[in-house]
Amino acid sequence: MSIQILPARLANQIAAGEVVERPASVVKELVENSLDAGASKIVVDIEKGGAKRIRISDNGCGIRKEELTLALSRHATSKIKDLTDLEAIASLGFRGEALASISSVARLTMTSKPENQESAWQAYAQGRDMEVTIQPAAHPNGTTIEVNDLFFNTPARRKFLRTEKTEFSHIDEVIRRIALARFDVSFVLTHNGKMIRSYRAAANMDQNAKRVGQVCGQKFIENALTIDCQHEGLHLWGWIAKPEFYRAQNDLCYSYVNGRMMRDKLINHGIRQAYAELIPSDGYPAFVLYLELDHKEVDVNVHPAKHEVRFHQGRYVHDFIYSVCHQALQSDLAQMQQSIAE
Ligand code: ADP
Ligand code: MG
Repeated sequence: MSIQILPARLANQIAAGEVVERPASVVKELVENSLDAGASKIVVDIEKGGAKRIRISDNGCGIRKEELTLALSRHATSKIKDLTDLEAIASLGFRGEALASISSVARLTMTSKPENQESAWQAYAQGRDMEVTIQPAAHPNGTTIEVNDLFFNTPARRKFLRTEKTEFSHIDEVIRRIALARFDVSFVLTHNGKMIRSYRAAANMDQNAKRVGQVCGQKFIENALTIDCQHEGLHLWGWIAKPEFYRAQNDLCYSYVNGRMMRDKLINHGIRQAYAELIPSDGYPAFVLYLELDHKEVDVNVHPAKHEVRFHQGRYVHDFIYSVCHQALQSDLAQMQQSIAE
């Protein structure tokens, strides 16, 4: 066979394999876009586990009519422009792949109105070569993206979708994780027209803790140790469960790096090590932890779904997390022993 450049749609579908694994990954990408757009309120409506419909509405900055088509093309992003930006990423997105990928494997409608644009416009993408049609629409300031019939044109992928219930539970988990990342934003999640989650924007630590209780359960927050420690450019804060509240599964392990949700081995290892002698070896600690450091100290461009990061000083970060958690657990233990002795 001779060498050919792939048609745009096929290229996007291949890229979609990395970004769009299931409905929950679509939800994650779109909600992250809403957050990058500065939204303070995000509504997520799901039908049939997301296979039929995923609709995300926000009150963010919107997309101008002239840029609707561009937003849907590959490698189109407003978030970085050069290598310097890439080396210190503050936004959640930057690859300019999500909308192109999603619209190549679904029927996508995007309606948007920036504050300074008189009326709203809607773009619809589906069909050969990523053709986009644009028409006038009604919409308040902000953006609504509707993704219908996910994987309708990639039957092999569609076959891998699980039951409605399973797919929805993945979406629910994405929303829980994001709700813990942004206390200042309100989130609503509905499934088949029924309200499932509603998190109000929180404005102080007490309200943050209340949201943690909503997401992780009252039992967690009422028995958690509060963490807040800064040291040479690193800041770790959040909540970790007392050892006796360990879990049989790793279902309450939430860690964030500069506001980005993570499943990072190095962080998890540091935390686990702090609990090592305190919980059974097959148990899992419960925690909600936030690590903040200079954007330049961490590379987020490691994984297409951005679940992993690379720290420039990995060992140092690991040991910091370990020692902060270790100290908190040990001093709690000492307090407990003292109160027994008294
Ligand atoms: P990325 O997030 O990596 O930039 P995306 O494909 O997810 O790439 O989005 C492309 C562009 O579309 C974004 O850079 C942004 O300018 C615009 N965009 C997407 N979603 C929204 C939204 N909800 N509100 C405002 N702009 C958006
Ligand atoms: Mg994005």
